[in-house]
Amino acid sequence: MDKAAALERLRALDRERMYLSQAAAILQWDQETYLPPEGVEDRAEQLALLEGLAHEKLTDPQVGRLLDELDPAAAEDPAGSAAGLKAADGTFPAADGFPAGDFLRVLRRDYDRAVKLPADFVRDRARAEGLSQAAWVKARRDNDFAAFAPHLEKMVALEEKKARYWGWGAGAAGFVYDGLLDFHEPGFSAASASALFGPLGERLSLLLREIAGKTGPSQSPGTGPSASPGGPGADKTGSSSLAGPGAFLRRAYGASRQEAFCRRVLGGLGFDFNRGRLDTSAHPFTTTLGFNDARITTRYAAGDPLSALFSVIHEGGHAFYELGADPVLRSSCLAGGVSMGIHESQSRLWENVIGRGRAFWRPWFPRFKKSFPRQLEGVDFGTFYRAMNTVSPSLIRVDADELSYSLHIILRFELEQRLFDGSLRVSALPAAWNAGMKKYLGVEPANDAEGVLQDVHWSMGAFGYFPSYALGNLYGLQFWEKLNEDLPGVNAALEKEDYAPIHRWLREKIYRWGRRREPARLLEEVTGQTLSAGPFLRYLEEKYGELYGF
Ligand code: ZN
Repeated sequence: MDKAAALERLRALDRERMYLSQAAAILQWDQETYLPPEGVEDRAEQLALLEGLAHEKLTDPQVGRLLDELDPAAAEDPAGSAAGLKAADGTFPAADGFPAGDFLRVLRRDYDRAVKLPADFVRDRARAEGLSQAAWVKARRDNDFAAFAPHLEKMVALEEKKARYWGWGAGAAGFVYDGLLDFHEPGFSAASASALFGPLGERLSLLLREIAGKTGPSQSPGTGPSASPGGPGADKTGSSSLAGPGAFLRRAYGASRQEAFCRRVLGGLGFDFNRGRLDTSAHPFTTTLGFNDARITTRYAAGDPLSALFSVIHEGGHAFYELGADPVLRSSCLAGGVSMGIHESQSRLWENVIGRGRAFWRPWFPRFKKSFPRQLEGVDFGTFYRAMNTVSPSLIRVDADELSYSLHIILRFELEQRLFDGSLRVSALPAAWNAGMKKYLGVEPANDAEGVLQDVHWSMGAFGYFPSYALGNLYGLQFWEKLNEDLPGVNAALEKEDYAPIHRWLREKIYRWGRRREPARLLEEVTGQTLSAGPFLRYLEEKYGELYGF
């Protein structure tokens, strides 16, 4: 087979795999949104079949042979190092402009990850994960970490084994946790995370303490946000009182009006409802079902109207990224986001930097007020803006404000690293968790259910995943600084609801590449910089310094 024909064959196999994965994703989306409860059992079988077929398609020996044939350099270097693959880059671009070199590199990565795991390991891990997740649900309900600990130990051991199958744990790739980080964020390592997160954690903790020392940013005394670590307002879940700062955001907001407002904002931001949908599910998520089909979900809480709205804007950011890939990448493994961290940079940029900003709300606040006249009676713009940006260290990650959020992640990273370098045993995890919360956030959980047991991730063996959330904040602000340099009038544009220049910039610099550029290279090409916490800290210091007066 000549090279052109071999490439076409490989692209066809990859396309079939993508279609099977997308079909499985449709079933999954349906399960989370519309599936009647009794349909769950058959759905599990349907999903297992389709996902199994997609896996078979990816691990087909033909794929390996074609990859070797098209990219002999990579065949000699089974780890698929960048050096081995460079030779292939651009040497035989497909006639339609499809980037063959990038395609071979990314498909090789997917293929290697899949074929290196023995079938019996995959089966055992799936079974252990199911049991572990069920045990976690029960342990969290009963506040019983000891009952969950053996499952967690097993998941740590299985993930370590997985990283070893992938080639980590020896030589230069000696630390298995690096393999798990690299899976979610290609090229990222525990050493680079420590170098970033150490100083970032210290600086954020200081900022938090500084804010806690302030009485609040209120112009009218008594209505400012509270910021007292460990104080009665520290746990947001326990502070549903209808009095006090931001109380107007805890009044009853009807779900259908909330939904109408969310749709209006999402459409206003440029989401094309001919290329996607917004529906309701228990937990917000985004899934891409085709080149012109990105689905967003959210849920509406009567006493917290901004929760649905910000999750819609967040998920919208994920969808913009997915829908903005170059059409030539359509239905290939190159379409879609390059990493969890870059994905989160897009969602957090829209949700926090834009969505919680003054300029954005200038045109939207009057409409929000019009939608909820009773709930927002007498609330002015300044009061609303301050309530929305209250800093208050909380025990629960998903309730955290923009400033303290990364501290929740830094703690999880440190604990994960220690679980894999052997310096922390699972049995000692709750104590280490509580000490870390106290050190970073100044709050301490009263029990493990609101402490170490709060997140589902570890029960599923998803280690190395949390850091992407903090990375998203860092990448996002590095991109945003550069965007502001290139488009100096961006705040004026936001006040006029003109989002087109932002979309154009993001599409040109980030979206269109899909998975073609690995995170470090993408960042370097867009900003000329390596990964840094500087822009994120500058942003927080400016925004919260102004709000809290320091
Ligand atoms: Zn997200």
